[in-house]
Amino acid sequence: MAAILVRCPNCGSPAHRHLLPLLAQSRTECHRCDYLLVTCTRTGNVVEAHAPGLSDAALRERLTVPLSVAIAARSQGWGG
Ligand SMILES: [Zn+2]
Repeated sequence: MAAILVRCPNCGSPAHRHLLPLLAQSRTECHRCDYLLVTCTRTGNVVEAHAPGLSDAALRERLTVPLSVAIAARSQGWGG
């Protein structure tokens, strides 16, 4: 699995981005602050997002796709 070192957008620490070609997903995880962002590499849509210390409203502002879409996708079993 390919892992790319990126900077966590939440806390600024080094985070890992994993590319999951079989799922057409990119998964960014920070183990320091428990930040998680899963996006679809085909559409760029956010599949799943979790950022500790951010309210739902603040997190939603950071994302281009409304969180309700991500939640709907997850409930339909696309969340991996
Ligand atoms: Zn972080």
